[in-house]
Amino acid sequence: MALKAIRGSFFDFIDDPWKHVGAEQKSARFYADGMLVVENGKVKAYGPYDKISSQYPGIAITHIKDRLILPGFVDGHIHMAQTRVLGVYGEQLLGWLLEGIFPEEKKYSDPVYAKEGAKHFFDDLLAGGTTTCQAFLTHAPVCTEVFFEEASRRNMLVIGGLTGIDRFAPEGSFDTADNFYRDSKMLIEKWHRKGRNLYAITPRFPLGCTHDMMTSCQKLRKEFPDVWFNSHLNENPHEIRDTNAHHCTHDYLEAFEKYDLVGPKFTGGHSVWTSDDEYKRLSKAGAAVSFCPLSNLFLGSGLFRLGKVTDPAHRVRFSLGCDIGAGNKFSILNVLDEAYKVGMCNNTLLDGSVDPRNFDAAEAERNKLSPYRAFYSATLGGAHSLYLDDRIGNFDPGKEADFVVLDWTSGQKACAWQTSQIVDKNGPKDMDEAAKLLFSIMILGDDRSVDQTWIMGEPAYEKAKN
Ligand SMILES: [Zn+2]
Repeated sequence: MALKAIRGSFFDFIDDPWKHVGAEQKSARFYADGMLVVENGKVKAYGPYDKISSQYPGIAITHIKDRLILPGFVDGHIHMAQTRVLGVYGEQLLGWLLEGIFPEEKKYSDPVYAKEGAKHFFDDLLAGGTTTCQAFLTHAPVCTEVFFEEASRRNMLVIGGLTGIDRFAPEGSFDTADNFYRDSKMLIEKWHRKGRNLYAITPRFPLGCTHDMMTSCQKLRKEFPDVWFNSHLNENPHEIRDTNAHHCTHDYLEAFEKYDLVGPKFTGGHSVWTSDDEYKRLSKAGAAVSFCPLSNLFLGSGLFRLGKVTDPAHRVRFSLGCDIGAGNKFSILNVLDEAYKVGMCNNTLLDGSVDPRNFDAAEAERNKLSPYRAFYSATLGGAHSLYLDDRIGNFDPGKEADFVVLDWTSGQKACAWQTSQIVDKNGPKDMDEAAKLLFSIMILGDDRSVDQTWIMGEPAYEKAKN
């Protein structure tokens, strides 16, 4: 019986902070001196140290001092096969794919090359505190195999699947709809729900898929209703025009709806140019989008409308994604930094100063990524968007014990002094101070702020000491 405890300052979420405008503390829990009891990788008990420790006399305790412990970060949109090509210069989406990305991804048909990439991919995720990801792979089945093998080795909860693409890419970077169907079926049977692995039917994007490829996806979705579905949605205006012309659709989402692909466990990455009507349909379907600000800014794709997806009239589930390699950093902390700025840029368009007719105070308020909203989205909100909140996302008993240990004094040099203005050497004494520290971590920090990452109650990463 593997029973153990971690003692320290814990911060997690029990609800969506956008539901508690003006009282976001109601969505969170903070224990300045807390304790997490883990049994066989799962949370057995969680709460104040005094209370929990009295229930488990003699239990082995790891005491983590001067840190904030949060549930592991969830990344809803990332490309494993782009781990070697962060920062391709000078192109927007379609040119970037053709010139920088397809030639690189093709190399992942070689298992040795793919294995080395997978190792770096997971090392870099863990160093950023990310414990769960939903990943794109390539059209080569071996790349999917390598992804699940490496995730299994680390016992990480991951979602991934073979990329469906049978047009748009150059020769050697796609496969037929029939082969995709056959290989996907084989991979689902081999990997889905084996250990912590979950499978997603993954057409790259509708512009890269013929009618036959979309039909293969539809068939798979019917035959395997338990698997996930991951693709791209409304990333770039040029892409959107070409998609609607290719699929004879009025809008991008319709290209998926035509094949009954939109519903629970659906994620559309980016969703920069999604219309109000598409958001209503996504909300009704229980589908999700993924917000990837690093990528959207790097490729110049545009500004995700945070205040729109969080509209209570038609709330849409969303995750955060670093979208390596269009995103240039693995850390969700960097994603939060840029996400905050995207929200503020959107507010300039909503505050009436550019055009008084666009004034919308309620949407502008929802655009503000407070530390509660930010870290909810990185943990429980991301898990909720992926329909994983029954397994991960907070420290409720029964959940899988994946967590990250944050050091508010690390990051750029300014962090230590700036955070010393918020708390003294005893650390945060209440939720308000802890939330202020979290905001500093997301705005000033980066993967240096991640001291440790734990998977199923076991240490999986520890930052090298200076
Ligand atoms: Zn992507």
